[in-house]
Amino acid sequence: MPANAFSDVAHWVFDLDNTLYPPSARLFDQIERRMTDFVARALNVPDAEADHLRDHYWRLYGTTLAGLMHEHGLEPGPYLEAVHDIDFGVLSPDPDLRSAIADLPGHKIVFTNGSAPYADRVLAARGLAGLFDGVFGVEHAEYHPKPQPEAFAAVFAKAGIAPSRAAMFEDDPRNLAVPHDLGMRTVHVAPAPTPAPHIQHHTADLSGFLRLLRAPRHP
Ligand SMILES: [Mg+2]
Repeated sequence: MPANAFSDVAHWVFDLDNTLYPPSARLFDQIERRMTDFVARALNVPDAEADHLRDHYWRLYGTTLAGLMHEHGLEPGPYLEAVHDIDFGVLSPDPDLRSAIADLPGHKIVFTNGSAPYADRVLAARGLAGLFDGVFGVEHAEYHPKPQPEAFAAVFAKAGIAPSRAAMFEDDPRNLAVPHDLGMRTVHVAPAPTPAPHIQHHTADLSGFLRLLRAPRHP
C-alpha cells in the first residue's frame, strides 16, 4: 500500500501516450506508421530504412523527431502535424480514470513528447478534458523530448512543479530516470514491470493505483 509515500505530493505529472490510455488501443501504431512515411519522404529513403531510422532516433535521442532535428535540421511543425493526423475513434472515455484523477489533491499536468494540440484531442477522446491545470508538449521544451534533462527543466519551470513534492506517471521507463534524480515519486504505468533503481512503483491499472492513494488511512 503506497499511500504514505504519496501523502505529501502536491504536483501530479502524467505522461500521455500509453499512460492515460491503454497500450491495447494501439494508437501509437498509427503514429509510428505516419512517422515512417514522413521519414521516408523527408529523407527520400525506402520504407524499411525509414522504419529503421525512426526506431534508431527514438533509441538515441528519445524521439524520432529529436533525431530528425539534430541530424537533418528538420523543422518540427509539419512533422508533428503529419504524425498526429490519426483516427482517435479507437479511444473511449474512461470515467473511472477521470474521477480518480479529479480526486487527487493539488496541481495536475500532462507532459507529452507529442504536441499539446494532439494531447488535447487524446484527452477529449478519453473524457479527460478540463481535468488538468496544464498540458505541455515537446514545443514547450524547445523540442527537447523526455528523457533529456532539458525537457523536464523547461516544462517543470513553466508549470511550476516542485519535484520534491511531485509524482510522475509514465509508461516509458527511460522517462522516469530524471524525475527520480530530481526527487520525484516515480510510477511506471505498464502491463508488465521493468525493475530499475529509478522506478519506485509499478501499476498495470492507473485508476486503481490512484484510488489506493486516496483511500482513507487508518491512524
Ligand atoms: Mg508514453
